[in-house]
Amino acid sequence: MTSDSAVVVRARSSRRNQAVIIKKNPKEIEQMAHAGVILVKTLNLVASKIRPGVSTVELDAAAEKFIRSQGAEPAFKGYRGFPGSICASPNSMIVHGIPGRYKLARGDILSVDVGVIRNGWVADAARTFPVGPVTPVARKLLGATEESLYLAVEQCHVGNRLGDVSHAVQHHVEAAGFSVVRTLVGHGIGRSMHEDPQIPNYGKPGTGIPLEVGMVLAIEPMVTAGRHAVRMGDDHWAIYSQDGSLAAHFEFTVAITPDGPRVLTPWHETGDGRAAA
Ligand code: MG
Repeated sequence: MTSDSAVVVRARSSRRNQAVIIKKNPKEIEQMAHAGVILVKTLNLVASKIRPGVSTVELDAAAEKFIRSQGAEPAFKGYRGFPGSICASPNSMIVHGIPGRYKLARGDILSVDVGVIRNGWVADAARTFPVGPVTPVARKLLGATEESLYLAVEQCHVGNRLGDVSHAVQHHVEAAGFSVVRTLVGHGIGRSMHEDPQIPNYGKPGTGIPLEVGMVLAIEPMVTAGRHAVRMGDDHWAIYSQDGSLAAHFEFTVAITPDGPRVLTPWHETGDGRAAA
């Protein structure tokens, strides 16, 4: 799940407005990786059920049942009152879609965001799936957004700064002719889903906080095929592209280790689940 800037600022105000980055030791990162394994299995399960005619609430029910069967909890359920276990955001909806009666149609794209808490540690990840064959623009949007996430991960090592991560996303997305959403950001993650620092998907190389071993970051490019402005839906959760253009969202939880980045939610490594394109 993405963070809006206000959540982190509110959390920060009680700490004299200082960003407080809670680093994790190797054992703690291992705990988060366990949550990540369950999360990847959940995403794969959801992916296997994505087809025309399926409602997003059915996907949500399957995800919740599976997460609980693993002795874990869905991190989103009840988070600030969110009713679902996943966010299911079709087409021009960027993030935070409440699962409901909406039935997937051939040619849709669907962003699925999942959070898992296991032993008190949180993992957060998302990917956008095509529902059957999609338009060339949609295919290109999904490809560029996913690639921008991989490029961001490559920047996650000691010696770099947060701006290098943000810039990697922005540069790749804009070179493809798309826009990065400005008002929603990735975030630190650990025992809480949303910790410092905020991670914008745009920025300048060589700026921002230095990356250090033990930081764990939820990096989540949110990209529209049109302009970057957004609007909130009537349910006060869903965020749409303001111009109605298609939107994609890919997210990993990534730990910075002495050996470089470690993706704790490696949905890209497991057998696919990607709906037939
Ligand atoms: Mg997130």
